[in-house]
Amino acid sequence: MQKSIERIAGDSEGVSYEFSVFRFDGSDKAAPSAYLQAALHAGELPGVVAIDALMPMLGKAEAEGRIKGNITVVPQANPIGRAQYHFGEHQGRFHLGTRTNFNRGFPLLAAPDMMLLPDTTLGTADQRLKVRLLQLSIGHDIVLDLHCDDEGLAYLYVHTSLWPAMADCAAAMGVDAVMLWDEDPDGTFEGASIMPYQNVPADVACLDRRVATTVEYRGILDVDGALAGVDAEGLYRLLVGRGIIRDQALPAPGSFVGLVAPIENIEMMPAPRSGAILYDVKPGDRVAKGARLATIVHAPGEPDGRTEVLAPQAGLILTRRSRRIIRAGEDLLKLVGDRKSADARSGTLED
Ligand SMILES: [Zn+2]
Repeated sequence: MQKSIERIAGDSEGVSYEFSVFRFDGSDKAAPSAYLQAALHAGELPGVVAIDALMPMLGKAEAEGRIKGNITVVPQANPIGRAQYHFGEHQGRFHLGTRTNFNRGFPLLAAPDMMLLPDTTLGTADQRLKVRLLQLSIGHDIVLDLHCDDEGLAYLYVHTSLWPAMADCAAAMGVDAVMLWDEDPDGTFEGASIMPYQNVPADVACLDRRVATTVEYRGILDVDGALAGVDAEGLYRLLVGRGIIRDQALPAPGSFVGLVAPIENIEMMPAPRSGAILYDVKPGDRVAKGARLATIVHAPGEPDGRTEVLAPQAGLILTRRSRRIIRAGEDLLKLVGDRKSADARSGTLED
């Protein structure tokens, strides 16, 4: 394993950022290769601790000569966001200098060709970081971007062109649900990892063996040693299952039994009023149409000071907020309905 340090120039003289990259060389040139990164949203740490638990497993496989395909690991992909504190609160989702989401604005290339990447010498630091992460990841058969939600189940976003070929990966990782998407107008890292393969010849795209996914490892507070171990084992099973690591002792994964739904089925449930949230449901609950999801206490102490929010259709509660204060119009939770949402905002990749 080799460790290297990447440096990203900051937006002013005397400022630069660093992050570590770990590379394991595979012994079989025909084997697929993998790229794993975590904490692109810099405060989302379940994936970081999962990678920390995975690294000794990769080290053991390397020592025993069992690594067949190249593996590149970036445990903390966003040194800019990692350093952002505003009035004592960490701000890892948006670049404070440009107000841009760190997981939006990635260049969506027409083909998997590094020469198509824009020159960001005169751009901003977050643009330089995004181009560098694509340079590190494009060309790998397997690209995993580890995130987490606010409070939530473990789930994946997967482009429709990779499903159901990626069902083995979802089973190996042991996630609860898979959200299938088609359109990524905003340029997420996942979109930038899969869209370049959509209009190239099938023998270049190799969609049957390609993996690109945003992994949502539950909620922001689920940074836990036991869960990190479970997630590391899931990642390891995926790498074995896809032929990057050899491990004959590992049992073959079963088939995926979690929920699979198009992203258009997600109800984002905007809050009708601002106030305090009293939730009736938590991630993993199944609800019937009309079930009460939450009550917003918007005028405490007044007879009509509460507003109830009901399920517009039956479905599974995928996520909810970790804080209990909300503004009118902000999203209360994600409900994966059995059919398409009537809300026009639903249907985009929302990690
Ligand atoms: Zn995220």
